[in-house]
Formats: sequence, structure tokens, C-alpha cells
Amino acid sequence: MIHPEVTAVLNELTPILRQAQHVVILTGAGISAESGLPTFRDPMTGLWATYRPEELGTPQAFRQNPRLVWEWFAWRRELVAAAAPNPAHQALVALEHHVPHVTIVTQNVDGLHQRAGSTRVIELHGNLTRFKCFVDNQPITDWKASEDVPPRCPRCGGLVRPDVVWFGERLPEQALNDALTAAKKCDMFLSIGTSGTVEPAASLPYRALDSGAAVVVSNLDVPNRATPPLYYINGRAGVLLPELVQQTWPEA
Ligand code: NAD
Repeated sequence: MIHPEVTAVLNELTPILRQAQHVVILTGAGISAESGLPTFRDPMTGLWATYRPEELGTPQAFRQNPRLVWEWFAWRRELVAAAAPNPAHQALVALEHHVPHVTIVTQNVDGLHQRAGSTRVIELHGNLTRFKCFVDNQPITDWKASEDVPPRCPRCGGLVRPDVVWFGERLPEQALNDALTAAKKCDMFLSIGTSGTVEPAASLPYRALDSGAAVVVSNLDVPNRATPPLYYINGRAGVLLPELVQQTWPEA
């Protein structure tokens, strides 16, 4: 059952979305929550209950205790492998059937947008199913089986690390530039399931607003409010995104 306040905002958005030529969707951990992947706000469970992500996801932590950080990421990779895209990811795939240009800019490292079938995905924080060398950052696709945890780079013997952006590290330049360009060119920008606290992704909606786009912010923390060109909707992405697509193109 969708709250009437939510319906009121959705009703304002449907004509804008129907006319849109380029839609950018910035996604965060919240869009994968309904796939069973915890956000960084959810307390960690089991073996990891006493740690905080900010303590484990840093180059310093990896230098000090590479095995611990490697095992945390191995645990997260298992969660991702066992998860499946949810109706929110699928609604963004459906959007590609109606809108000429759809660009997803994700802070997630789980690859669920690609697994759902989205074709234009910019990964700002990398992907935990890819690896690189801790010494020279070159990609690593395979390594010799051994007892080493983490494994060793087959080229230089350095430690293998996940190809994600850790706290305090720079974002991949190309991905960030592509995201900024998309935010400036789009006519509609949706920020879904992100708390908007991690820069520079947090400023992308403002770039879009400055360039004249309608901007929608949706997560579990915001109120329901339409103050064009800025809109807020409170609710679960797995409910709201399919509803928005269905209301916009009911005939599809
Ligand atoms: P965050 O944890 O700071 O915030 C999560 C946001 O999602 C909150 O605003 C919350 O209200 C909202 N939310 C929770 N459940 C939701 C739902 N069902 N529908 C809609 N919204 C929902 O996450 P963040 O802003 O992405 O930033 C934290 C960092 O954590 C990012 O850099 C990201 O890379 C990383 N992270 C990624 C994953 C993943 O890849 N799945 C998981 C955890 C954290």
C-alpha cells in the first residue's frame, strides 16, 4: 500500500519522466538492501559484528592486517554471489526501454545493476568481484593457488586486493568525469538509496540541478515533498521504482 503523500509526489514525476530524454540514476547501498545486502548503516553481523566498515575498508587497515581485510571482502563477495537483483534494479532496466538515454552512476560495488541487465553503468567505487595489485594497481584476473591469504600478484609478488575504492582513496578519474558529464547533460536525475554523505558522489545531484534538471531524492530518511525542480520521496526502492515506471507507462 503506497502512502497518499508518496502517490502525490509520484503523480508530479510521471509527466516529467515521460518527456525525459536523458535520465541519470545515482544509486547507493539502499538499492541493494532488498537483495539482502546490508548497507553500511546496518550493524555488521556474525564474525564481523565488532568491526565498522570505516575500520576495515582502508589502505592502512590492509597494510596492517591484510588477511583480516581480505576475509571481510571474501565474506562480502559471498553475500553478493548469493544475492539477486531486486525489483528496483529491474525497474531501471525497464527504463531503458522507454527513455532514449539512461545512465546509472553507482556507488555500489556489488555488480547487481549489470546482473539485472542495465547496459550503461558507471561504477564510482569499483567492484568487489575484480582484483588489482596493492603495489601498482594493475588489474589481476588470476593468481597461483597457494596458502597465501591474501594471494600474491603473479607479476610482482605484491598483495592482491579488491578493486574497490577504499575510504580515503581517490575515485577512478574516468568514471568520475563521465558521471559529472552525465549529471550536467541529463534532464532528470534520480538519487536512490544513498545517504548522500560520501563525496564527490554527494554533489552530483547539485550539478544536475544547476544544469536545469529535475532532481528526485529517494531513500528511507527523507520526507515526501515536491518543490520543483527538487522532489523527495520516502520509501523502499523496490516498491517505488517499479511503481514510478508502471505509472509513467501504464500501457507497457
Ligand atoms: P549508506 O549506507 O550511507 O546509506 C544507505 C541509504 O539507503 C540511506 O539513505 C537509507 O535510508 C537508504 N535505504 C536503505 N534501505 C533502502 C531501501 N530498501 N530503499 C531505498 N533506500 C534505502 O549508503 P551509501 O550512501 O551508498 O554510502 C555508503 C558507501 O557504502 C558507498 O560508498 C557504497 O560503495 C558502500 N556500500 C556498498 C554496498 C553494495 O555494493 N551493495 C553495500 C554497503 C555499502
